[in-house]
Amino acid sequence: MADKVRVRFAPSPTGFMHIGNVRAALMNYLFAHQKKGTLVLRIEDTDESRNLDEAGFNILKTLKWLSLKYDEGPIIGGDYGPYLQSERTKKYKKLLHDLIKNQLVYRCFCTKEELEEKRKNQIAQGMPPRYDRTCRNLPTDKVKEKLANKLPFIWRFKLNDEAAYEINTLERGIIKFEMKNFSDFAITRQNGSFTFLFTNFVDDYLMQITHVIRGEDHLTNTAMQAALFYAFAFPLPKFWHLPIICNVDGKKLSKRDFGFGVQELREEGFLPQAILNYLAILGTSFEDEIQSLGQLVENYNFDKISSTGSIKFDIEKLKWINHKWIEKLPANKLLEFTKPFLHDQIPSSIEVDDNKLEFILEKIKTDLKTLKDIGAVISFYFYDPVVDIVALEKHFGKDKAITALKLIKENINMSNKTDMFLETVKKEAKNRGLKIKEIFGTLRYLLIGSFSGISMYDLFEILPDEVILKRLKKLSG
Ligand code: GLU
Repeated sequence: MADKVRVRFAPSPTGFMHIGNVRAALMNYLFAHQKKGTLVLRIEDTDESRNLDEAGFNILKTLKWLSLKYDEGPIIGGDYGPYLQSERTKKYKKLLHDLIKNQLVYRCFCTKEELEEKRKNQIAQGMPPRYDRTCRNLPTDKVKEKLANKLPFIWRFKLNDEAAYEINTLERGIIKFEMKNFSDFAITRQNGSFTFLFTNFVDDYLMQITHVIRGEDHLTNTAMQAALFYAFAFPLPKFWHLPIICNVDGKKLSKRDFGFGVQELREEGFLPQAILNYLAILGTSFEDEIQSLGQLVENYNFDKISSTGSIKFDIEKLKWINHKWIEKLPANKLLEFTKPFLHDQIPSSIEVDDNKLEFILEKIKTDLKTLKDIGAVISFYFYDPVVDIVALEKHFGKDKAITALKLIKENINMSNKTDMFLETVKKEAKNRGLKIKEIFGTLRYLLIGSFSGISMYDLFEILPDEVILKRLKKLSG
């Protein structure tokens, strides 16, 4: 096995990257970078498509959006390719051949229906559903007869019932699997293609993977793959089984739960930095919870891995982290991420130049929890508010509202000289028995249709003079 750390992210191109996948990719990335190792991307497409299909490309695009770069993999290549399983059939055939030669596999002719029947019966009898080894000891002439009749078959691995295999894990140290708890598993399918259990094992071996980091839902697979490593006398990688991510009800997170799909999170205005940050701190603790990818590489403590079987996905916490990242990003970066939402929600925003938008973003970003909030938060810049005297009077009382409007009217010609205008109305407001919040609240209402929010000085800086004049005149003019 390689001296240097080699890890892999091995997604199946189902066309859907969920946050469990992203967490696996992230943990592999952090581990590889902290240990100065190599991150391999392997696409587990055993359907022999022999090309990166849309779902495969979707994985590459998502990884790029997340800034999770891999060192070897599709497109960029590497010494252990090809990196699409659909292009590695020859290698699987070779290792299957070794298993056949060493009589470690046998042909199973049981049909799907028969297997299903057996499964049901076992469950009905309260037994764990396992293959009952009907074909393990078929006499040679029977096998020959079935082959002559062209009956379809699969290759099954002959598991040694009495064996117990040990694996080394980062989360629980040594784990021992008793093979009596498993049964002879399939190596091939009836159409001749190879099963996940086998291809995944073959590739981890051939790609010299030193650490297999993946979800805890693969623990049973690990047991059977360990049997394969032992059968070939290949050195075993170390394993890290990541706790299952659950929803608030403690059930495994699924498509029904908001935030499960990365695309969904992206469309809802979550930043890649926030998603990675949140997934990294899930189930562990950091003094400062806001961590960039670079900081995570440096600070993640792989010596203190918890062995919790599950952790809770908390969308509110993710929103909070997203908010923190929105505040933290430099304006040009934030604009880059925000633009698609802004253009979609307010098409006329396309005409506003970037400097102006960056300037506005800088002033309003604290009001954004997600990028999708942009339309509502920035709309005051594009649209005149709907205002009416009744609402103003209701809010401040009739006398105050009239006094405030009068004061604004008297000084309206000064409104293009922000400091002077605001200082004057502030001073004069006092003389006329108005509180600051009453005069500024009235101004804000006329300008943006709301009594609270963005600071008055920022507002005067953002809005063009003629817009200010027009809006202030609305009720007071
Ligand atoms: N293709 C498998 C999956 O997406 C790979 C699991 C693994 O990392 O071994 O679940």
